[in-house]
Amino acid sequence: MANAIIFSTNQKHPVGKRRCTFCTNQMEHIDYKDLRTLRFFIDGFKRIKARYYSGVCMRHQKTLSAAIKLAREMALVPFVTMYKKG
Ligand SMILES: [Zn+2]
Repeated sequence: MANAIIFSTNQKHPVGKRRCTFCTNQMEHIDYKDLRTLRFFIDGFKRIKARYYSGVCMRHQKTLSAAIKLAREMALVPFVTMYKKG
C-alpha cells in the first residue's frame, strides 16, 4: 500500500494549506531503501529539498534527511551530480 502513495511536492505556490505527506499517510518510519519515496525529496543537484519546498513537517524532515544520508552512504543515492573546479 505504501507504493501506491502519490507524493505531491515541489509546489512553490500551493493552493490551500500544505500538509506533511508522511503525516497524512501515517508513515512513522522512512525506509532508506525506499528510493521511490526518497526521490521526491531530492532535487536535480541531488540535494535534500528544504521544508519550504517539500512541505514536510520538522519531525519527518529530520527522519527523512537521516534516511537520505544513510542511502548516500550505502551508495543508493548520489552525493552530487557535478562540482565546480577551483
Ligand atoms: Zn510529518
